[in-house]
Amino acid sequence: FELERLGVHESVDAVFPPAELAAFLADLSIDVAVVDDDGIDDCDAAVTLVYREAFLELDWIHSIQAGFDRFPRAVLEDHDVILTNSAGIHDRTVGETVAGYVLMFSRRLHDYVANQQERRWVRPEWDEGFTLPGSTACVVGTGTLGSGVAETLGALGVRVTGIRRSGDPVPGFDEVYASDRLLEAIGDADFVIVTVPLTDETHHLFDAETFDAMRDDAYFVNVARGSVVDEPALIDALEAGELAGAALDVFEEEPLPESSPLWGMDEVIVSPHAAAYTRDYFRDVGEIVRENVKRLETGAEFTNRVV
Ligand code: NAD
Repeated sequence: FELERLGVHESVDAVFPPAELAAFLADLSIDVAVVDDDGIDDCDAAVTLVYREAFLELDWIHSIQAGFDRFPRAVLEDHDVILTNSAGIHDRTVGETVAGYVLMFSRRLHDYVANQQERRWVRPEWDEGFTLPGSTACVVGTGTLGSGVAETLGALGVRVTGIRRSGDPVPGFDEVYASDRLLEAIGDADFVIVTVPLTDETHHLFDAETFDAMRDDAYFVNVARGSVVDEPALIDALEAGELAGAALDVFEEEPLPESSPLWGMDEVIVSPHAAAYTRDYFRDVGEIVRENVKRLETGAEFTNRVV
């Protein structure tokens, strides 16, 4: 297709200023402009956070997220719209966020932050804090996020196991299990970290049975998508003391409703779907977009294509 005008949809503003990306791409031989919903018509392609029906008139849309569960893939295919995503850029950001959660729990830092709000000088129980070497993290999903988590936790001395459908080895993981051994693998872990995409296969992959298979001194971390987890089952497990705690970046409903019991739990860390935030985000996304504009010019296959 002929690419003359690329729109940076204003919805990316939730993650970075749209004008930063437009400026980053200004040296391309095409017209790049920040557009709102009314401006989509004038473009051939768009970079976006959200999905809009008006995109069906375009030739190409690029999602600034790795997950594309919110885009109607069959509909896009019917309308001959190419969809590319931003998988491949969130290894360090999410890996370091997960390392942060793990260190907060092991070094009790979340307690100090909570106590500071109340000007309370309270030390942990003598046996609450621990160090990471000798502990095991089971990472469910060994793609970009999973590999970034394995790299950062591995550097902290954590033994890292992975779950992938094939069970074949992956660099950075001490051991990889096939998906049908999930319960066995998570039963052995101090930390269980979810990094799989949301698909029909992974919807509510974590439910009462999986939480039951985890140790009651284990921590659960979800940086993937809320609906990979049966949230009421997680809340039940936490309330019953069947898990030590959880760090959650994603939820079945976002923003997490004020009424959610998760907000008030001492051993739960809630972050606002921001595990991948970085001041470099527009550059990381921009490199993928730039690469595909180049490929379009030379007639090469797109990278990161999902439809
Ligand atoms: P990726 O494409 O690099 O890796 C996904 C991996 O999951 C692949 O290795 C794939 O083979 C594997 N997988 C797919 N289905 C599976 C299954 N049923 N069982 C086991 N493994 C399976 O994507 P990524 O960048 O690692 O991102 C993964 C997901 O994390 C995204 O789809 C998105 O939903 C979420 N995400 C969240 C944030 C955040 O801000 N919290 C940031 C980036 C990505």
